[in-house]
Amino acid sequence: MNYQTVIGLEVHLQLKTKTKAFCGCAIDFGKAPNSGTCPVCLGFPGSLPVYNKEALNSAIKVALAFNCQIQEHTKFDRKNYFYPDLPKNYQISQFDLPLSRNGQLIIFDQDHQPKRIGITRIHLEEDAGKLIHEADSSLVDFNRTGIPLLEIVSEPDLNSPQEAFDYLSSLKSILEYLDVSDCDMEKGSLRCDANISLRPQGAKELGVKTELKNMNSFKGVKDALTFEVKRQTELLQSGQSWQQETRLWDAQKGLTVSMRSKEGAKDYRYFPDPDLAVFIIDAPMISRIKAGLPELPQEKMRRFMQEYALSEYDAKILTSSKKFADYAEECMKIFPDKDKKPIANWLIGPFTSVISNLADQAKQEYIQSKNLVELVELVEKKQIISNLTGKIVLEEMFATGNTARAIITEKNLAQISDTGSLEIIVQEVINENPKSVSDYSAGKTNALMFLVGQVMKKSAGKANPKVVTDLIKRRLS
Ligand SMILES: [Zn+2]
Repeated sequence: MNYQTVIGLEVHLQLKTKTKAFCGCAIDFGKAPNSGTCPVCLGFPGSLPVYNKEALNSAIKVALAFNCQIQEHTKFDRKNYFYPDLPKNYQISQFDLPLSRNGQLIIFDQDHQPKRIGITRIHLEEDAGKLIHEADSSLVDFNRTGIPLLEIVSEPDLNSPQEAFDYLSSLKSILEYLDVSDCDMEKGSLRCDANISLRPQGAKELGVKTELKNMNSFKGVKDALTFEVKRQTELLQSGQSWQQETRLWDAQKGLTVSMRSKEGAKDYRYFPDPDLAVFIIDAPMISRIKAGLPELPQEKMRRFMQEYALSEYDAKILTSSKKFADYAEECMKIFPDKDKKPIANWLIGPFTSVISNLADQAKQEYIQSKNLVELVELVEKKQIISNLTGKIVLEEMFATGNTARAIITEKNLAQISDTGSLEIIVQEVINENPKSVSDYSAGKTNALMFLVGQVMKKSAGKANPKVVTDLIKRRLS
């Protein structure tokens, strides 16, 4: 029997506000453990929370970017559970009146067709502290307690691990454009849990689901889901039944392990937080925030196609991250030709490949846009250097920060196009290869390629192949 995979994702996003969600503690990650805390975020009796307007603004921004409906009345609830890193024994979250509902994100399926993934809700909540387990003790740091989080819950509209991966990539790109979080999964500012179940193809009812946790990269999410599809398929095929549960992804072993049976909402005894009043998000506030939204990736992609006459493929890659898109646009603006394709090619090809070979830290620094543009002109228009030499120069530009011209002069890389100096090499090659010369005269075109190759070799790759070809042809005609 064939089974359909059904996946829903819950993303927790840490907002980069100056202070915590319900108190005035500054958010600063360099601090000594527990020094960034106060009676409110430590949950001392009698302390009163006050919600952070900056966090609320960011939350509305995100909700609007995903086309969610903003709820006019919204409130905070207490989600009760006991855990050592939660000093109040409840987390301030939102239950039945979340900030926003019914949004969407468009991904592209295997056939490049747009597919709508529903977003059930986006709501605000606060983070818990951090437990540190050492050899014979467990420690807790409350600095993170009360940091504003957004929970972005998707509909179970994703049907493969690849679609989940694409959804997360696209989501992250939009969030980066909005500049509300640093979106760093390794630092925990973007965390993801996944729900996955399988059902017979065509069935309406959902199968028994598993919640997956502990995935700390997009690849981890994809791998964990792929493992779970296989595990659940085998269980179904062997006719076994199982319970809804939470499983942890073990990236080292490449498998999921059972953690606990899943709590339902009733286990949390949610109730409205009596210390935080219901608040109203009115239309003027929504339109003000909407007006301030930046251009988002898909809009930017369409504009790039129009303004710079780029293909959909090129425009999509160039706008995949805000940083790359801004840089690409700077380059395209100063590239003097109307045809921007050479710049796009260099950015998507050599530029991206050099960046991906750099260490993480160096990735933060791009070379100056005017330097890249100069390099592309030297290769594409002026033909001072070949494509291949251009790539070597680009690596050197990243390593030293020097301009292309300076590197070409210093390393003596300029292409030799003047016939005088090339004639000498051409003559040498002809003298040394009588067999190829007679082959060429007998009409074997491959022999010409061989001779050109020999000249290129003798000139250490600097000869202009077009000039060399002309010279040899003239000599042997
Ligand atoms: Zn505090």
